[in-house]
Amino acid sequence: MFSSFSEDVKIGQQQYQPAQQSQGGAYNLDPKLSEYVSTVGMRLAALSDVPKLPYEFVVLNNSVPNAWALPSGKIAINRGLLLKLESEAQLAAVLSHEIVHAAARHGAQRQRDNLLVQVGMAGLGLGLANNDYRDLIIGGANLGARLTTAKYGRDHELESDHYGMKYMAKAGYNLQGAVELQKVFVSLSKQQKSSWLDGLFASHPPSQERVEANIKYAASNPVKDAFSGKEAYQQAIAYLKSKQEAYDLADQANAALAQKDYDLALSLISKASNIEPKEALFSAIKGDALAAKGNKDSALAAHMRATELNPNQFSYYLKRAQSYAALGQSSYAIDDYRYSMRLLPTSIAALQLGELYSESQNQEQALKYYAQAAQAQGDIGQQAKLKLALIEIKQTPEKYLKAKHVQDPKGPLLVTIENHSPLNIGALQLRTQLIDANGKVIKIEEWSINETIPAQKRSPYYPAKVVYHLKTGEKVKTSISSVTLE
Ligand SMILES: [Zn+2]
Repeated sequence: MFSSFSEDVKIGQQQYQPAQQSQGGAYNLDPKLSEYVSTVGMRLAALSDVPKLPYEFVVLNNSVPNAWALPSGKIAINRGLLLKLESEAQLAAVLSHEIVHAAARHGAQRQRDNLLVQVGMAGLGLGLANNDYRDLIIGGANLGARLTTAKYGRDHELESDHYGMKYMAKAGYNLQGAVELQKVFVSLSKQQKSSWLDGLFASHPPSQERVEANIKYAASNPVKDAFSGKEAYQQAIAYLKSKQEAYDLADQANAALAQKDYDLALSLISKASNIEPKEALFSAIKGDALAAKGNKDSALAAHMRATELNPNQFSYYLKRAQSYAALGQSSYAIDDYRYSMRLLPTSIAALQLGELYSESQNQEQALKYYAQAAQAQGDIGQQAKLKLALIEIKQTPEKYLKAKHVQDPKGPLLVTIENHSPLNIGALQLRTQLIDANGKVIKIEEWSINETIPAQKRSPYYPAKVVYHLKTGEKVKTSISSVTLE
C-alpha cells in the first residue's frame, strides 16, 4: 500500500466517492460555486511542484468547517468552511494547503508510520444528528474515512503552509490570506468551538508556531499587485450565503431529533425547506422526524422526495429503505438497502439486509450480510455477530465451539469445550472417536453434555469414556453433532 505513485492514484480513485458520500455528499445546488472552487484549486495545483496529479475539487454538503485531501490530489471543502472564509485568498490558502498534503504524499507517510486511527467506534443508528456516517463504513472504504480524519503532524502542517503560500504567491494571491486564516484558527481553537475541533482542527491542528511561520514567509516573499479577491469571493458564495439560515435551521432540527423533540424538528425543517425547497437533506430530515413520530406513510413520502431531489446520495436510499421496511414492503426495502451499499457500504444497511433476508428465509444472503455487518465495531457489530452466531452455530458448530482433550496419565481422557460464541449453550451432542496409527476409527462414543456453557467461557472437564490410555500412534477426535441453545 502507498508504495508508489500509481498506488496513490488507485487509492484516490477508490476512496474519493465513498469519502464524499460518508460526509454529506457533493453540494450540488449551486454548480457555479463548485466550478469556482474547482477553478481556484486547479490554478494552484497547476503551479504546484506536482502539477500532473489527477486533481479534483468538490464542495461537500456538510456544515462542519472542514477540508481534506486524499492521495493523488482528491480534495474536498465543506460548505460549512466556505461560509467562514472571507476572500478568495483565504480560499486559496485552504486549498493550496490541502494540495501540498496530497502532492507531498503525507497520507502515504501517515500510513507507513501507522498514524491512521481506525474509525468505527460508535455504533450509531440512523437519524444521525451530524449527517456524518464515517463511523458506519465497513470494508475497504474505511481507508478513505481514516485518511480524511487522521491528524497531520507538526512537520506536515508547517510544510503544507510553507509550500501552500509559495503556490499562492505564484498565482498572485495576497499572502495575508494565509496569515489571517491561521490567526483566526488559533483564536477559535482557544475558544474550544466544537464544530471546528471536530472538523478542520482535528486533522490540521492550528498553532502559534504556524502563525509565526506564515508571517515570516509573507514578509520575505512580497507579491506584486497581490490579489485578495474579497468581492469575487463574496459573489461566488452569495447564493450559499442566502441559504445559510436554512442550513442553520436544519442543524437545529437534527439537534432536536437527537433530543427526541420531533415536533420542534418538524417545524424547524419545514422553515428550512421553505427557504431552500431543492435541498434533499431537508426532506430526509423531515422523513426521519415523521418516522420517529410513527407517521410511516408520510415518512416514506418525505424520504422518497429526498431521493428524487438528489439521486446520488447513499443516505437517502438508506432512509427510504427504512421507511419501506417499517411499512412491511420488504422487497423495496431490500432494493434500496442494496443500492445504498453500492454507493457506500455501511454496517447499518448490512445488518438490516441480514434481517430482511433472514425473515424471508434466504439464509445464504442473510449470512452474507450479517458477516459484513459483524466487521463493524460497537452495537451494530455486536448485534450482527449475535445474529450470525445464531444461524451458524447450528450449521457449523466447530466454528464457535472447540473440543479439547487432556489425557490424565492414570485416569480417563478428559474433554473440555471452549465456547467462543456470544451465545449460552444449553446442551451438546458429541461424538468421540478413537483412531489408530493407520487412521482407522476403532471406537466411537456418542455422548452428551447437558449443562450450560456460558458465552465466551470454557466448560469443566468431562470424562470421555471411549478410551482411557492412548497407545503409541493412536489419537482421539471429538466432534460436535448438535447444539441446543439455552
Ligand atoms: Zn494540514
